[in-house]
Amino acid sequence: MKTIDEKQAWAAFERRDRSWDGRVIGAVKTTGIYCKPSCPARRPKRENVEFFAAAEAALAAGYRPCLRCKPDEVGRDREAVAKAVRLIEQAEEPPALAELAAAVGYAPHHFQRLFTRDVGVSPAQYARGLRAQRAQTQLTEDKSVTEAIYDAGYAAPSRFYADAKERLGMTPSAWRDGGRGETIRYAMLDTPLGQMLVAATAKGICRLTFDEDEGALHRRFPNATILPADEAMASLISGVMTAIETPTAMPDLPLDVRGTAFQEAVWRELRKIPVGQTRSYADIAAAVGQPLAVRAVGTANGSNPVAVLVPCHRVIRSDGTLGGYAGGLDRKRQLLEAEGHATRAKLAL
Ligand SMILES: [Zn+2]
Repeated sequence: MKTIDEKQAWAAFERRDRSWDGRVIGAVKTTGIYCKPSCPARRPKRENVEFFAAAEAALAAGYRPCLRCKPDEVGRDREAVAKAVRLIEQAEEPPALAELAAAVGYAPHHFQRLFTRDVGVSPAQYARGLRAQRAQTQLTEDKSVTEAIYDAGYAAPSRFYADAKERLGMTPSAWRDGGRGETIRYAMLDTPLGQMLVAATAKGICRLTFDEDEGALHRRFPNATILPADEAMASLISGVMTAIETPTAMPDLPLDVRGTAFQEAVWRELRKIPVGQTRSYADIAAAVGQPLAVRAVGTANGSNPVAVLVPCHRVIRSDGTLGGYAGGLDRKRQLLEAEGHATRAKLAL
């Protein structure tokens, strides 16, 4: 029997968190109706809400499904997406969208949206990421990535993602070849968090890290041309300094990072966490459609190549403790305090 953390569940309802759809059902005692967390309807009083792990349980307890949010369809959508993921992973060639949608019984356009919302990337992006991942992972011939991941039950996903730190930045083909053909410019910044390395390709920032210098770039991208920052990089650098010094003024800076489909989905979710807020590793796992992949989220989080701008510091453990941080826990605490402070200051205005 799945236990429900009612505090977390209610918080998910309060912020209408779509990533919690399918994980919990809220039933309203006064109206006899049950909803999914993202339901657009007005929130009932907390004391009138009772939580269930699944729609069937709410139904069995005598509640009726909400006509607005159609909570019974969540399970069906999730199953369709899971089935499509399996089809993509089992296919020799990436299946066309129309083919996938037909296989799970949805209209292509609708299914594309559904898949992207759940997984964080489109079916085509997922297939591309998977192919890149396959090229990189050391798997035996007779075992697919899916099988290996499912066999592992996500209990030891670190085997799949641990080497991810070594393959970030630039296009998949460029990073596979040690950055061949790419020019990477870098600078060392004196920030309130200490010295940081910032590096960028022509497309955007590919690395922003603590405790690294030029040598790290040569090790990661042995075939790239690595040069000091030029005039053209000045605005990127000042944007980075602004982002670090004034979290609430987060400028929209171009990034050029690549990871597996899973990592990219995690990093995309991280960028949605507002300044001054935090999420748990479990929240992010649910948001990328892999609620069991909590540890894999931790690993993807830790392999984030662009600190601060992809705010992996805003992910903490469900119990409220900080968890880990590539730049050290003092810096994570400093970042969160600065953001909390900045947010409060803004609210006080
Ligand atoms: Zn509803």
